[in-house]
Amino acid sequence: MVNGRFEKIEGTDREIPADFVFLAMGFVGPEKGSWLEQLGVSFDERGNVARNDRYMSNVPGVFVAGDMGRGQSLIVWAIAEGRSCAAGADAWLMGETQLPSPIAPTARPLQ
Ligand SMILES: Cc1cc2nc3c(=O)[nH]c(=O)nc-3n(C[C@H](O)[C@H](O)[C@H](O)COP(=O)(O)OP(=O)(O)OC[C@H]3O[C@@H](n4cnc5c(N)ncnc54)[C@H](O)[C@@H]3O)c2cc1C
Repeated sequence: MVNGRFEKIEGTDREIPADFVFLAMGFVGPEKGSWLEQLGVSFDERGNVARNDRYMSNVPGVFVAGDMGRGQSLIVWAIAEGRSCAAGADAWLMGETQLPSPIAPTARPLQ
């Protein structure tokens, strides 16, 4: 892994005969192609959808919360991000918000 992304190591290719293959790679970021690229959202250096400090992507009115923006994480973070993202959307629509915004998009677990 380099900067949280898989990176090919030259000279390690090999063939394994199999009838069926399951890839258990964990969450490797939002699927590229289709609607995400149609929307025109940009991605951060880890391949997640980039957002500003109010959870909005580079496309006005398109908000991002949870694993799609944070990367592989936990339910409690997704819940907190969902609430904060709702506050961001409310502020964008209404000009202000009374909704709670428990965490910033950049918040990380205490070490
Ligand atoms: C195997 C596994 C085990 C885990 N175990 C734990 C655990 O024990 N504890 C814990 O806290 N966390 C655990 N997690 C992490 C947790 O599940 C995630 O962090 C959390 O679900 C992220 O929430 P989310 O709303 O961001 O994304 P998700 O829960 O992934 O929700 C995204 C939703 O978007 C939908 N969707 C995707 N594409 C489209 C589309 N084009 N149109 C419409 N809908 C779409 C999907 O169907 C899905 O319902 C685990 C994750 C995995 C994969």
